[in-house]
Amino acid sequence: MTASQPPTTAEELRGAGLRVTAARVALLETVRHGDHLDVETIASGVRERVGHISLQAVYDALYALTTAGLIRRIEPAGSPARFEGRVGDNHHHVLCRSCGAVADVDCAVGEVPCLTASDAHGFVIDEAEVIYWGLCPACTTVSSS
Ligand SMILES: [Zn+2]
Ligand SMILES: [Zn+2]
Repeated sequence: MTASQPPTTAEELRGAGLRVTAARVALLETVRHGDHLDVETIASGVRERVGHISLQAVYDALYALTTAGLIRRIEPAGSPARFEGRVGDNHHHVLCRSCGAVADVDCAVGEVPCLTASDAHGFVIDEAEVIYWGLCPACTTVSSS
């Protein structure tokens, strides 16, 4: 026995109370290896691994895994939803208005200070979704030349 092997994807699904299917394993791995993928890209990644799967089945699996907290959904206004495997650290995103590129931004000054709202209006706050909008380096170069 070697010390603490990381759990397999199937074990993680089981640990989150989900039934393990080849499609869910493939989907979780696709999302984790990708970089804020949209649903179409995830569907083709899953198909590469397990063969045909309907878009509806992909949506169903994404919903189950998001609800279980294994993946995170970000839904920027006016842009298709994206999914990522980096969960539970309250990180934020910077998005390009022009091409839709997305990058991770760690919480403003670490240790989730943005969860301390200036006025919580009596709510118990557990997440702060911040999206910084702007232009990515590639698009800045195009528009300034
Ligand atoms: Zn861009
Ligand atoms: Zn992210």
